[in-house]
Amino acid sequence: MYDFAIIGGGIVGMSTAMQLAETYPDARIVVLEKEPRLAEHQTGHNSGVIHAGVYYTPGSLKARFCLAGNTATKQFCTQHGIHYDVCGKMLVATTPLEMERMQALWQRTEANGLERYWLSQEELHAREPNIVGLGGIFVPSSGIVSYRQVTEKMAQIFTSHGGDLLFNAEVIALDERASEIVITTTDAEIHTRFLISCAGLMADRVVEMLGVQPDFMICPFRGEYYLLPEKYNRIVNHLIYPIPDPAMPFLGVHLTRMIDGSVTVGPNAVLAMKREGYRKTDISFSDLFTMVAHQGIRRVLRDNLRPGLTEMKNSLLKGEYLKTVQKYCPMLKKEDLKPYPAGVRAQAVSHEGKLIDDFLFVNTPRSINVCNAPSPAATSAIPIGEYIISKVKERIGEPAYAAKAG
Ligand SMILES: Cc1cc2nc3c(=O)[nH]c(=O)nc-3n(C[C@H](O)[C@H](O)[C@H](O)COP(=O)(O)OP(=O)(O)OC[C@H]3O[C@@H](n4cnc5c(N)ncnc54)[C@H](O)[C@@H]3O)c2cc1C
Repeated sequence: MYDFAIIGGGIVGMSTAMQLAETYPDARIVVLEKEPRLAEHQTGHNSGVIHAGVYYTPGSLKARFCLAGNTATKQFCTQHGIHYDVCGKMLVATTPLEMERMQALWQRTEANGLERYWLSQEELHAREPNIVGLGGIFVPSSGIVSYRQVTEKMAQIFTSHGGDLLFNAEVIALDERASEIVITTTDAEIHTRFLISCAGLMADRVVEMLGVQPDFMICPFRGEYYLLPEKYNRIVNHLIYPIPDPAMPFLGVHLTRMIDGSVTVGPNAVLAMKREGYRKTDISFSDLFTMVAHQGIRRVLRDNLRPGLTEMKNSLLKGEYLKTVQKYCPMLKKEDLKPYPAGVRAQAVSHEGKLIDDFLFVNTPRSINVCNAPSPAATSAIPIGEYIISKVKERIGEPAYAAKAG
């Protein structure tokens, strides 16, 4: 019998596992991951940005955890010798409308307590000679890292405390009883006193296995990238972001300096036809059917028809995709966009047809389920883990008491 089982070997699952093992050193803990290695989904397919907390509603979990996570991630990397770079981020406005929206973002960054600088057209040009815009905001605390590397280090710390990490262990059924949860994986039956699910793109399905009808559904949005040729590795000095449309949940195609020295363009946001569908041609008819049957997702599609079709057009036509980045980096040409692996975001959609903005948790008597952890959840993974552990303590008590609890 385990004291805790965690579903998911992404950064949220491993951060939680690591901190749980540190908090409850006598507990028996297992992480169940369906893939043969860690970070195979969102954690291993993202922009690698340590976000500063520019966009998020003041007071929301995203705003709080992102700000705390920015510091915590850098501290973790310093402590464990993981290379990261605090290269800073530039938000660039290219039209009068974007200048107006940038003003609203400026207020938000103030409410979120961020250090930032307003840049005139000339100041922007001086800092970024290859970028054009009417003005910008410079946020010095944004950085870059490999979240796969961070996750692997967390796993190493977890196993060094005696935690079990099982790969190829897909959870296919859960039975929550008065004193335990019985977990059925593809090849074993595991008993645990408490379960924490950090299943990303499968979050709603895990909740369903617990016998709870979730009032949301995970909608997969593919984020497609391109890689710039090596000669452009120094094309920008910072991370370059457009000013996002406040009506849209994603940040817009950006120029990202990666921790390996390369520069990527992206990601866009196209509805994926399969939960873990990384290629345009990946289709799962059962995933598609459940999405179309969900009234909330149908409403999101209807309400966002025009931007959705534009994203699809940009995805299919490289020339159209290019225009989204040429707005602020006109020197790039079609032949500069080289193939690069896509990522798929797990975005929870409510029955009412809203893209759920904040991090979302669903609890049962013996489980805590992370149900919406899109960006900036990689940045926020350490505070998310801390939060989960504070909730575990509320349920089963501090470590000394917990040893006797059951
Ligand atoms: C394109 C893109 C760009 C992004 N950019 C950034 C960024 O720059 N900065 C940032 O902070 N965030 C970014 N994010 C968001 C960030 O990557 C995610 O929020 C974060 O990785 C979520 O981590 P996770 O552990 O919850 O999910 P995941 O990494 O998806 O992990 C979930 C794990 O659960 C496993 N699992 C699922 N179901 C089961 C089951 N039944 N049994 C066993 N295992 C199961 C999966 O195999 C998977 O390994 C980006 C995301 C995307 C897609």
